[in-house]
Amino acid sequence: MQIPFHKTYTDEEEITGVVAAIKSGWLTMGPKTIEFEDRFRDYLGCRYAVSMNSATAALHLALKAIGLQAGDEVIIPTNTFIATAEVVTYFGAVPVLCDVEEDTHNMDVSKIKKLITSKTRSLIPVHFGGQPCDMDEIMAIARQHKLLVIEDAAHCLPAHYKGHKIGTIGDITCFSFYATKTLCTGEGGMAVTDNAAYSQSMKINRLHGISRDAWDRYSEKGTWYYEVVDNGHKYNTTDINAALGLAQLRKLEWMWQRRGEIAAKYTKAFNGTAVISSVIRSDRDSAWHLYVIKVNNRDDLIDRLKADKIGTSVHFIPVHKHPYYKQTYGYQDKNYPVANDVFSRTLSLPIYPGMTDEQVDYVIEKVIKHAR
Ligand SMILES: *Cc1c(COP(=O)(O)O)cnc(C)c1O
Repeated sequence: MQIPFHKTYTDEEEITGVVAAIKSGWLTMGPKTIEFEDRFRDYLGCRYAVSMNSATAALHLALKAIGLQAGDEVIIPTNTFIATAEVVTYFGAVPVLCDVEEDTHNMDVSKIKKLITSKTRSLIPVHFGGQPCDMDEIMAIARQHKLLVIEDAAHCLPAHYKGHKIGTIGDITCFSFYATKTLCTGEGGMAVTDNAAYSQSMKINRLHGISRDAWDRYSEKGTWYYEVVDNGHKYNTTDINAALGLAQLRKLEWMWQRRGEIAAKYTKAFNGTAVISSVIRSDRDSAWHLYVIKVNNRDDLIDRLKADKIGTSVHFIPVHKHPYYKQTYGYQDKNYPVANDVFSRTLSLPIYPGMTDEQVDYVIEKVIKHAR
C-alpha cells in the first residue's frame, strides 16, 4: 500500500466546470469569479468576499486595507507558514512572534499582552491545522488596545468557534485554496470581511489599483476608460480557478465530514499509545486540514513511515528558526520554548477525503508500531 501525504479530491464536477469555463471564451476573472465569491460569501454568512490568486496575496491586501505602515508591529504565532510573516515585511513593518500552546499548537493568548507596544497595529492569529484560536480573548485584547485582527484561516475552512463560522469573527479573514488545502483550486485565496471600505480597498488593489467606480461613472465615455486610484497589484484569480472553486464548494461539507471521520479514527486508535494527538477544545471544532501528532522519535518515525510508503510532513519550522528572519529581526530561540519543543516532536499524518478506511488503518498500524 502506498499512501501519499496529500491527494486532492476531485470528480467529474470539477472537470465539467472547468471545461464549461474554457468553452465560454472568458478565461480570466469574470462571471464565474463573481459567482464563486457570492457562493462563498453566502456559505460563510459574511458581507464581502474578495477572491485572489493566493492567501498570501489576500493577507497582503488585508494589511494594506487596514493601512499598515513601515515601522508598525504585527503579532503573529511563530508556528506558522512563512507567508504569515512575509506579508508583514512587505510594508517595512515588523513581525513580532508569539509562542504557542503545548496541546493545540495555536498562538498562546496569555503571552500576547507582553508583546504589545505603542507600535503594534494588528494581530494575525493562525488557526493551526484547522482548529480556531481563542478568538474571544484575541478580540478582547485587540479591542482594548485598538488593534485590528486579520485571521490567517489558510487551514480553517470550514470550522466554528462557539457557534460562529470562521470568517465571521475578525476584521478580515483570509482563506487559501492552495493544492493541499481543504478547498483546492490549484492556487487561490479569498479575503472576507463585513467592512465595506476594506472590501473596496482589496478589490481595487487586486487589479492594479483600478477603480471600478470610475469605470461605472465614466462608462458613457466608452469601455476604454478607467482610473487608477492606488498603487495596486496583479492578484486577481481566473474563471478557470473559480469553476474549480465552485465545484469544490459544493462538496466542502462532505469533504469536511470525511476528514472528521478519519481524525476520529486516529484519535481513538492513538489513545493510550506513545502517540500524542493534538487537543481540540470542546467549544470549537476543526476543519481538519492537518492531523498533527507528537512523538519522541520524530525523525526516526518519518523515515520508518517513508519505508512503509506513508507520506508525512512537519508543520511548521517556526518562523524564528529561518535564517533570513533570525538575522533580520534578531529572534532568539529561548523566547519560544513551547514552539521549539513542539517543533522537535511533531509530524502531520495523511488526512484527506479520498483516503479509504483500509488506508487509515494501515497508517494507524504503522504509526503505533514505530512510534516511541
Ligand atoms: C498555505 C498557507 C498560507 C499561504 O497560502 P497560499 O494560498 O499558498 O498563499 C498562509 N498561511 C498558512 C498558515 C498556510 O498554511
